[in-house]
Amino acid sequence: MPDMPRHNVGVEYAGEHIAVSLEFRERKRLSISVHPDGSVTAIAPAGRPMDDILAHLRRRRAWIAKQRRHFEKYQPLPEEKRYVSGETHMYLGRQYRLRVHRSDDTAVRLVGRFFNVCVPTPKQPRAIADALGTWYRSHAEPLFYDHMNRCLATATSLRLVDIQLRVRPMKRRWGSCSKAGVVTLNTDLVKTPLHCIDYVIMHELCHLRVHDHSPAFFRLLRRCMPDWERRKGRLELVVLR
Ligand SMILES: [Zn+2]
Repeated sequence: MPDMPRHNVGVEYAGEHIAVSLEFRERKRLSISVHPDGSVTAIAPAGRPMDDILAHLRRRRAWIAKQRRHFEKYQPLPEEKRYVSGETHMYLGRQYRLRVHRSDDTAVRLVGRFFNVCVPTPKQPRAIADALGTWYRSHAEPLFYDHMNRCLATATSLRLVDIQLRVRPMKRRWGSCSKAGVVTLNTDLVKTPLHCIDYVIMHELCHLRVHDHSPAFFRLLRRCMPDWERRKGRLELVVLR
């Protein structure tokens, strides 16, 4: 079948214009695809009137917007920990086995492939969770600062300076940013590989220039980090268990 011309159409949703690249083919149904870069394509049956197609796209616009949000979201998976010896805990994308010891002083150390945790009350999961939480936080903060500075040094075209960084536990996201220029990163991000950490940082830094997830945002992200999709794919495999 010869190549059919593409038509650029679009729908409005929640104040946003979503461009749709439309193509006609010999087929019965109209199909809509939302791609990971946020672009939207539609294939319509040859001969179907344009008014009809636009009405159909308008009916599906909430769904289209939802798919686009889905692609950009990176939700950490829930964590169910028991804090007993033998259990696996992550750091920078690697698994370490927990070894709990009784000791008057609380201490956490990475030794080989083990997380050695010393607490006065080794039978209390809360005490171990707190000790590990403190360890993760104390490692996350300097590491995230360092990597944010590296990202800023690579993506000089962003022309960003004096970015404030906050690190805290977040339930539903790996990171976020405010229009005032504050980047917030989820403490749990320190459990993921370094190239994923850099991806989340770069994603948030790009948002300081383009606040939405428009094609302009993804163009900017690609310029700053050409392989962001691969890193995002790896991040989506992270199971914090
Ligand atoms: Zn985003």
